Amino acid sequence: MKSISDLGDLAGKRVLIRCDFNVPLDGDRITDDGRIRAALPTLTALREGGARVVVMAHLGRPKGKVNPEFSLAPAAKRLGELLGVDVPLAADVVGPSAAETVAALKDGDICLLENVRYEPGEESKDEAQRVALAEQYAALGDVFVSDGFGVVHRRQASVYDIAKLLPSAAGFLVAKEVAVLEKLVNDPERPSVVVLGGAKVADKLAVIENLLKTADTLIVGGGMAYTFLKAQGYEVGSSILDAEKVETVKGYLETAAATGKQLLLPVDVVVAPEFSNDAPTTIVAADAIPADQMGLDVGPDTREIFASAITDAKTVFWNGPMGVFEMPSFAAGTKAVATALAESSAFSVIGGGDSAAAVRQLGFADDQFGHISTGGGASLEYLEGKELPGLAVLEGEN
Ligand code: ADP
Ligand code: MG
Repeated sequence: MKSISDLGDLAGKRVLIRCDFNVPLDGDRITDDGRIRAALPTLTALREGGARVVVMAHLGRPKGKVNPEFSLAPAAKRLGELLGVDVPLAADVVGPSAAETVAALKDGDICLLENVRYEPGEESKDEAQRVALAEQYAALGDVFVSDGFGVVHRRQASVYDIAKLLPSAAGFLVAKEVAVLEKLVNDPERPSVVVLGGAKVADKLAVIENLLKTADTLIVGGGMAYTFLKAQGYEVGSSILDAEKVETVKGYLETAAATGKQLLLPVDVVVAPEFSNDAPTTIVAADAIPADQMGLDVGPDTREIFASAITDAKTVFWNGPMGVFEMPSFAAGTKAVATALAESSAFSVIGGGDSAAAVRQLGFADDQFGHISTGGGASLEYLEGKELPGLAVLEGEN
């Protein structure tokens, strides 16, 4: 993968850079600006090198239509505050306003184009349509830098097609994320522990399959755990369950047993009759979940077992909260894992949008962990062993 230094002297050049500014919003207030902060090292280096920086980014899913609800205005404002300069936002993506905004840049200046997903070509499955849009992007820059790690698993115009049209390189964030994940997969210090949770069971199964090969211990909590408990033959009441995946999960339990991997599941859970912070809670054994209750967090014995495995580890990858951490009644499991991780000297990587939000919401600082990935889906696909189009394209001729 090429790096920014491979692009030569960028003074006076227009550098088109893809960033991931897909931040959570409450109205027009950004509730977690982690992704914008993660882009600063590359943006600052480019500006200090005298480049004219043109940032492309998306927010939410406007699905190819202009929709002010998904405007990047809050991101432009926050970026300006963090950099201490005015960051003009073009009113369109590749229209007259974009051309004018880019033309007005002086060396060291930075601007932002509107949400690239306002353009139907951005996420199109039709390659010709994507390339046509990428050509319009290319007219706004001399070189391309890919630094939106959260989107490198997408074959999209501002991520993939553009990199074939201009001299291209990975930004510092993408390079760092890849280096961290590569170490995790190929050369983890042992014992290596993977902690998985969250709600998207089906999405995360492929990663389990791959990680079972490299990790020493796999810990499964959160909503995912109930499909595992079911596969063990337990009833899970009204907990979230991916019934179609029970057989697949049985296979993982067998593989783990046959290969001597440790697979830790909850031994007790916090249940409630309904999905509400105010519902009465009970702690029950994992094989005794009442039919009319749902498991919403891991129980106290489980927290201890999970924390102790994390404490003994030299490498930890964590994706997915241990319970419904958004509700204080069900946040203790996630907090216990985060605490164990923050206190351990292991090399720790947190992936997943909700997991990153969880540790910040629970009051932890980013620097208490080795690395907080900005890309949930991208990091999982990397760990699955898939080729990510937005990375592969940076190894091409351009
Ligand atoms: P990430 O974004 O970190 O990859 P996911 O998107 O897979 O994680 O899952 C996060 C969601 O999982 C959170 O909103 C959390 O409330 C939910 N969750 C965790 N445990 C449970 C559970 N036992 N039942 C229902 N939802 C759960
Ligand atoms: Mg999520």
